[in-house]
Amino acid sequence: MRHGSPGRCVPQQQPQCLAYALNVQESHMSRNRESSGFLSWYFRVNLLKRILIGLVLGAVCGCVLGAAPEAARVFIVSTGIFGDLFIRLLKMIVVPVILFSLITGAASISPGRLGRVGLKTLAYYFVTSVIAVAIALALANIFQPGLNMGIIGDAAVKGTSAKAPPLSQILLDIVPTNPAESLARGDVLPIIFFALVFGIALAFLRDSKDGKAAAAADRLFELCSACAETMYKVVGGIMQFAPVGVFVLIAIVFAQHGPKAVGPLLYVAMTMYVGFVLHLVIGYGGFLRLVSNLSFIKFVKGANAASLTAFVTRSSNGTLPVTMRVSEEIMGVPRSVSSFTLPVGATVNMDGTAIYLAVCAMFIGFATGQPLNFNQQLTVMITATLAAVGTAGVPGAGVIMLLMVLESVDLPVTEGSAGAVAYAMIIGIDALLDMGRTCMNVTGDMAGAVIVSKSERVLDESKW
Ligand code: ASP
Repeated sequence: MRHGSPGRCVPQQQPQCLAYALNVQESHMSRNRESSGFLSWYFRVNLLKRILIGLVLGAVCGCVLGAAPEAARVFIVSTGIFGDLFIRLLKMIVVPVILFSLITGAASISPGRLGRVGLKTLAYYFVTSVIAVAIALALANIFQPGLNMGIIGDAAVKGTSAKAPPLSQILLDIVPTNPAESLARGDVLPIIFFALVFGIALAFLRDSKDGKAAAAADRLFELCSACAETMYKVVGGIMQFAPVGVFVLIAIVFAQHGPKAVGPLLYVAMTMYVGFVLHLVIGYGGFLRLVSNLSFIKFVKGANAASLTAFVTRSSNGTLPVTMRVSEEIMGVPRSVSSFTLPVGATVNMDGTAIYLAVCAMFIGFATGQPLNFNQQLTVMITATLAAVGTAGVPGAGVIMLLMVLESVDLPVTEGSAGAVAYAMIIGIDALLDMGRTCMNVTGDMAGAVIVSKSERVLDESKW
């Protein structure tokens, strides 16, 4: 896959174009900077650094304010609006992002060309994602990150207390009776369901023998991918404001909890990394050994160039050329398998992101005093698995999908809510979490390519 020219991103290149959109956004903004001083400095500094600066300054400022309750109150009242604005902007884009990225994702897999390799690949992706979320939930129940933090939000407003409906109702509610109503209300599961059904139908239509219908479907597909790209362009713009939002929201956390708040942040990161390692060993190691009778150690050694590239770039799409080279040259996956499994994997197979979503949802539940019950965890299982499918393989995409998972379990991230404050804590350390999850995403794609090739008896085993 190649980059499209700036003005024309063809649909098949969507993920690269998303990354492109984000980069262009930043360089475009930097070019248009005529003002000097703070604004000029602000846009010149790399976004990640700015978010980190926001996090550190917010923590220091919050600790200082913690010693002066009256000053803290004035700070919260006068700056809270910036935190609220950031949260509102993010929420604004959640529904269109899910809708268009899931439709585009589902519609880009051609049913006519799926065949046995395609079906095996998709089955492998699905099963490993479910295992990943199960491991994440089990770990989060054991470690309980965020427990007793008692985050109360800047306006001392808690998210609505979670009253989960029975399981049968949760499952039934996935099917919307009126998709427009679900979209208007932001009901996540019905939106996902509708988007997938729509996307799959569109994929069949694009493959249709009726030339007129296929051409119309192609045009609709292009429109949907253009909408998805536009939404990611908007995300790029909103993220320019993230350092300010993170600064305000983190200052509030530290004003309330003091330096004690660092511990839970490190603890949630540790829980997630333990999840990554366990999934690597149990999920991929288990599949490689039990299904393919291949050495897990050899796999890890062979995969490390691509895994490390993913860790550093935080982009599955950006790593794709390395992933393909490593899979073919070091692991012996034939081009016939790698050319389907790896590009599709970079778009829809995100086990690391699934683990991240599940652990973060549990953390936010614990931190805001609303631990997720069994049915809510089951909902997380469904939404995290599907949200991972809809996550674009670009840096930081998972953090938007987290909003949708939280919404599905009644932990809404609304202005002034405890959820918003806990969410800001996650954004503050997102780069660290993104490195690990992208590394897992890419490693999972390679394991899939190897396992499918072996089962098709086309793997070059002389390389093992
Ligand atoms: N950065 C991840 C990837 O490219 C996606 C995410 O943010 O979860 O795979």
